[in-house]
Amino acid sequence: DPRRVTVFGMTEHRHHRGGEWPEHSAAFEVHDPYTGEVFATVAACDQNDARLAVEAAAEAFPAWAELSAEDKATLFLRAADVVERRRAEIAETLARETGCTIFFANFQQDLVKQELRQAANWVYLPKGEILQSNVPGTYSTAVRRPLGVVASFTPWNGANVLAWRAVLSPLAAGNTVVVKPSELAPISAGLIVAEIAEEAGFPPGVVNVVTHAPGEAKAIADEFFANPTVRCVNFIGSVKTARMLAERAGRALKRSVMELGGYNPMIVLDDVDLDYAVRTGAFSAFFHQGQICMNARKILVQRGIYSEFVERLAERARSLPMGDPKDPATIIGPLITPDAVATVHARVAEAVSAGARIVTGGRSDGQVFEPTILVDVPDSCTMSYEETFGPVVIVQPVDSADEAVEIANRPLYGLTSAILTGDTYRGFELAGRIKCGAVHVNIPTIDDEIQAPIGGVRDSGWGRTGPYSLHDFSDLIWVNVQSG
Ligand code: ADP
Repeated sequence: DPRRVTVFGMTEHRHHRGGEWPEHSAAFEVHDPYTGEVFATVAACDQNDARLAVEAAAEAFPAWAELSAEDKATLFLRAADVVERRRAEIAETLARETGCTIFFANFQQDLVKQELRQAANWVYLPKGEILQSNVPGTYSTAVRRPLGVVASFTPWNGANVLAWRAVLSPLAAGNTVVVKPSELAPISAGLIVAEIAEEAGFPPGVVNVVTHAPGEAKAIADEFFANPTVRCVNFIGSVKTARMLAERAGRALKRSVMELGGYNPMIVLDDVDLDYAVRTGAFSAFFHQGQICMNARKILVQRGIYSEFVERLAERARSLPMGDPKDPATIIGPLITPDAVATVHARVAEAVSAGARIVTGGRSDGQVFEPTILVDVPDSCTMSYEETFGPVVIVQPVDSADEAVEIANRPLYGLTSAILTGDTYRGFELAGRIKCGAVHVNIPTIDDEIQAPIGGVRDSGWGRTGPYSLHDFSDLIWVNVQSG
C-alpha cells in the first residue's frame, strides 16, 4: 500500500499530492486521546511540500473544471459507496484519532454519505442568467466560473464530516483543493478524504492533502497566501485563528470563507415538556464532550421550572456512560488533548472562585471530563461569554422570554441556538429575534442537514455550507455577445 508504510510496527501515513503518496523526510506522532498512546505517525510536510501540492492542484484544475457534470456526479456517488464499504474501519480510526464515540463516528459517516450523494446534484446548480441588453442582437449573459485552487483548513473536532464539507462545495463548483488538516487529526480530517477520493477514481491532483507537525501550520499557510494560484482560503476553526487568517487573506486579496465557533444559547420556557427539555439540553450540552461548535453553552430556563430542570439535568448528566470511545456504550469520551482538559479545569475554577456552584461534575480522569453543570456563574467569567470546548454547561434562571432573548444575544458569537416551548407559534416569534445563523425551535442546538444553510453571523464567521456555498467558490462573469 503506497499510502502507508509500517515503521517499527507503527503505521506511518504519507501525504497526498497529484495522485501520488510521496516519500517524506520527517514524520510526527498522533496520539489516541483516550489511551494517550501514539496511534500513528504522519508525514511532516514543509513549505516546499505545500508549494508542490498547490502546483498539483493548479495543474489538475482546467480538466476538472471542464469535466462534465455527469462525470463529476458519478465520482461523488462512487465515493459515497467507498465510505459505506469502509464504514467500520473508518469509525475505529475516528474514535482512536479524535476520541469521538463510535456513535458519533458512524453519525459523521452517515452525514458524509448524504453529503456526497447530494453533491452529485450540486454540480448541476451553478447556473447563469440572460440579461436584458440595450443593444439589439446582443446576448448579454452572466455565468458562473470556478476560482481555481481552494486551500481548505480543517479542524479536529467533527474531523471527518467537516473535512468532506471543506472539499465538497469547492469541488462541486469546479475548483481543485489542497487540504491542510489539523495536526491533531491529520488522518480523519484529511488523509481519509484523499484515500476515498482516490479509490472512487477522482483524477490526480483534484484533492491534495498536506499534513504537518504541530507548530508548522503557519509555514504551510504562508505558502497558500504567497502563492498567486490559490484563490480562496476556506477555514473551519477558532475565532482566534480566523482573525489572523482573514487579515492575511485580505492583504493577499484572496477570498475567504470562515466557519467559526459559537456560544449557542438554549432557551427553555415554562410551558415545555420537561422530559423532552432535559434530554435535549443534555444532548446539546454534552454531545462529543462539548467539543462541537454547536454545543449549547448556556441554558436559560424560566424561573418556574428552573430548580426542577437543574435537578433533572444533573441526574441525566450523572447517568451518561463515560470512558473508552471505542466501547459502543460510551457517550462521554476523552477531550482531545491534556491541554484541553487543563483549559476546562481552569475555566471551571475561575467561575467557582467568582461564586459559581458546581451542581454536578467538575472532575476528570485521564482526558475524560465529567459532564458538568454550573449555576450562579457571574457574567464576568470567561465561561459566561467564551466558547469552552468541554462538557460544561451553565444553567441560569430568567424571568421572561424577553430577558432570555436579551441574554442570548449578548455574546458576539452567532452560530446556533434553540428555543424549547410548548407553544410553537411563540417559538417562531422568538426565533426572529435571535442573532444566530440557526435558530431551532424544539430541536437541539446541534443539528446538521447538509441541504440547509449552515454557518454563522457576527463573530461566528461568514459563508454557508453545501448548495448555499457554491457562490463562495465561484465568480460571476459577464459574457456579452453581439451576434448581429
Ligand atoms: P482549535 O483551537 O480548535 O484547534 P484552531 O483554529 O487552532 O482551532 O485550528 C484550526 C485550524 O487552523 C487547524 O488546521 C490549525 O492547524 C490551523 N492553524 C492554527 N494556527 C495557525 C496559524 N498560525 N496559521 C495557519 N493555520 C493555523
